[in-house]
Parts: sequence; structure tokens; C-alpha cells
Amino acid sequence: MITRVDWPSAFKPLLKKYKGKRHPLEYKNTYQLLVMVILSAQDSDKHINSLAPAFFKEFPSMKVLSKSNAESIQPFISKVRNFRNKSKWIIEIAKSVKQDKNIPLNLEDLTALPGIGRKSANVILREAGKKAEGVIVDLHVVRVAPRIGIVKGADPKKIELQLMEAMPQKTWNDLGMALSFLGRETCRPANPKHVECVMNTHCEYCRVNTVVSASARSLKTASSSEIKDRKSKPGNGNLKPNERPGKSHKTSKVRKSTLTKGNKKK
Ligand code: SF4
Repeated sequence: MITRVDWPSAFKPLLKKYKGKRHPLEYKNTYQLLVMVILSAQDSDKHINSLAPAFFKEFPSMKVLSKSNAESIQPFISKVRNFRNKSKWIIEIAKSVKQDKNIPLNLEDLTALPGIGRKSANVILREAGKKAEGVIVDLHVVRVAPRIGIVKGADPKKIELQLMEAMPQKTWNDLGMALSFLGRETCRPANPKHVECVMNTHCEYCRVNTVVSASARSLKTASSSEIKDRKSKPGNGNLKPNERPGKSHKTSKVRKSTLTKGNKKK
């Protein structure tokens, strides 16, 4: 029988654990966050954090950036994945937004900017303390949420919709980030740390693996009974060592004769 999980209740410990925890990108204001979110797509937060200080020293605001061009910013981000397109998008945004205070803080306007998808927009809204309009679904969430069983599939958009349906809107901002942190720290692609995980009571992946272990245990038990059964049958009760299952009487004889031959040669 499939039991329906009360997800809002099941997620309470996870939401509590990561409540309000900042995104790993080390930004100092919304302008920096917007630029870093674009740069971090298909790259690592750690890498973007390492090059951010030099970039923002040269381009401290949207206003300064708007007077620059893609070629000027490329030397600062040349090791970032897809840096050519990203430099064009960043300059295009700077020229249209012009000043930090004009950065839009709603999902529709953010996603209208080049290089900003729903995931990036949800990150910016959450970090800016705005009301959630969706759930952050990064590569960690794509792995972890289906494991837990709250969603099905691997399409980020469909995963986001399922999360929005399963959980109340007031939790959306922290939900995606909490799942992302869980994926980064505990539910790694290989060897997830089930024992220390705050979701292990409700996690489908964990439950399925427990069932597998139980089956394995029952198979083991069946094998032992089978062996006992065989031993109790007439003629099997007092088998000699070389007549036990797995030992061939014939092989034993061959081994014995080989040893005898060897001794004779000496
Ligand atoms: S219980 Fe295991 S599989 Fe489930 S979320 Fe936690 S670490 Fe991941």
C-alpha cells in the first residue's frame, strides 16, 4: 500500500536546518549577485567566488559596467565556461538596467534579461528577501528531490512545478536552497549519508533500499533452511567432508592422486 506523505510536515526539519542560510556565492549586493549568478551557470560557485573580487574592483557597479563592453570584461572571466556569451549578456543587461537600483526584482522581469532563467531569478529573489514566485531547482535539487520522492522525473521545470504543488508558497524560497544544501553536503551523487540525513524518515530512496536489504536477509534465511532441509533428508545426514554440497568426491580423488604422484617423483 502506498502511503501519502505529508510533505510540509516531512520537510520541517530540513527547512529548519538551512533556514535563511546564504547562497554559497559570496556577493556583497544585488548587482554582484546578478553578475555572479550569470557567471556561475555550468560553472562552480567556488570558481566564481575566486575571480569576483578582481572583477568587481574594476566594475564596482552597474553604472560602471554599462559604460564598458564585452571585450573589456572578458579578460576577467576568460576561464569561466561559456564566457563569451556570458560577457555579452552581462553588458547587455548593464546597458538596459543602467543602475543598481533599477535591477528588477520580480520573476517575469528577471527572466526577460539575457542569461537569466528561472533558477537564477529564484536565487536572486530569495537572496534579495523578496516573495517567492517559484522554487530554486539547480542540479543538486534535480538529483535530491526525486530521491526523496516528492517529485518524479529529471526536467527542472517539471520538478519546480511539482515542488510548488506539494509545498506551501511561504516555504518556496527556503525549500529550493535547503534541497540544494542537502545535495551539496549530505545527499551526494555517490554514497549519500542516509544515517545523518534529516530526511531519512520520509525518503523514498532510503525506504526502497531498506526493503532491498530486508529481501536480501529473507533470501539468506531461506538458503539456511534449505541447507537444514537437505541435511535432514535420508542419506544426507552423515555426509563425509568430500561429499558435502560444493565439494566433489571425484575432484577430491584427483587431488589425492596428484599429491601421491608428486610424492612418488620425489
Ligand atoms: S535519506 Fe539518503 S537518499 Fe534520502 S535525501 Fe537523505 S541522503 Fe539522500
